[in-house]
Amino acid sequence: MTRINVMKPWLGADEIHALTEVIESGWVAQGPRVAQFEREFAVAMQADHAVATSNCTTALHLALVVAGVGDGNEVIVPSFSFIATANAPTYVGALPVFIDVDPVTGCVTAEGVAAAITHRTRAVIIVDQGGVPVDFGAIRTLCDPLGIVVIEDAACGAGSTYRGRPVGAGAVLAAWSFHPRKLLTTGEGGMLTTSNAGWAERARRLREHAMSVSAADRQTSILAPPESYAEIGFNYRMTDLQAAVGIVQLGRLPEIVRRRREIAAGYTAALAGVGGLRPVGDPGWGTSNFQSYWVEVGVDYPLNREALLLHLAEASVSARRGIMAAHLQPAYVGSPSVRSPLPVTESLTANTLILPLYHQLDAADQATVIDALLAPLAVVRHG
Ligand SMILES: *Cc1c(COP(=O)(O)O)cnc(C)c1O
Repeated sequence: MTRINVMKPWLGADEIHALTEVIESGWVAQGPRVAQFEREFAVAMQADHAVATSNCTTALHLALVVAGVGDGNEVIVPSFSFIATANAPTYVGALPVFIDVDPVTGCVTAEGVAAAITHRTRAVIIVDQGGVPVDFGAIRTLCDPLGIVVIEDAACGAGSTYRGRPVGAGAVLAAWSFHPRKLLTTGEGGMLTTSNAGWAERARRLREHAMSVSAADRQTSILAPPESYAEIGFNYRMTDLQAAVGIVQLGRLPEIVRRRREIAAGYTAALAGVGGLRPVGDPGWGTSNFQSYWVEVGVDYPLNREALLLHLAEASVSARRGIMAAHLQPAYVGSPSVRSPLPVTESLTANTLILPLYHQLDAADQATVIDALLAPLAVVRHG
């Protein structure tokens, strides 16, 4: 039996063709394709400015730099997220402060943020966790009057909506990932979107060693103008090879989301009457792209999460443990980032698992997953 993976990127002939064109053009580093990808991404996400980066982690770093977050500041973050969300504030000398999440959505709430604000709080990183849109408006209403910058970690969010618009559309700063585990992939890659023209300009320079003249501009002029370096920057560039793939992928986003939601609906229908398995769903304020279709294993189910993972593996189904809890990792245990108990995070991370969901998952494979989930219940019922 062939193994059913939790995720597979959807790449094909169009990406190969786009890559071939870039290679034949002789221009493989950051250049015209990156600029085109940025323009098209900004349009698709209804963002004012988009700055392509090497990945989402570097986009988060740049977001914090341009927002002026630094030494001695606190940045409120969910522990229930990929660890990059928490690590980014440490890159600028700030302290990530962990808060708990809502048990239903897995996202932070305005109440949770409010309870963690101190006079040192300079920013909040909110996450569209697993593609579920975070209640962005409520958190902005809380933070904007206090001068606290709300950065949206939309790594998982491309194709999700919040109140009828793409997630990240109203954000002052949002960071996106094109890792193969997300809906759109460029192998590795990221994007920073912002409503602030000055921040976009600075991020554009900072990702390229803070050079006054971009490498692309120097290459296109015969007599290259002299460049200067006003501050210490980074090399966080995306390549034109990656951007060419990203342009093709972005064009497919509506189709990818439609298919993912269709598969998710299939799981949700199959699990509807099943006690003890609670699947993630759309919140009241938006729609998920189901980047991660997770299921919470409750006490009514005959197996616990670990036993269910093993049982699925025996059926050649490669499910995954749910989203991690950063505060339980050695990097953060005992650190000042952990200020209060995080019971919801600990429960979700211990009791959830992520089911296979990718564009090419066919009905037969999905039925295999569903049968494997239901089999332990049948055993109990029939003694
Ligand atoms: C994947 C992910 C990241 C990191 O993205 P990279 O592109 O791999 O750096 C950050 N935050 C969240 C919530 C993620 O899921």
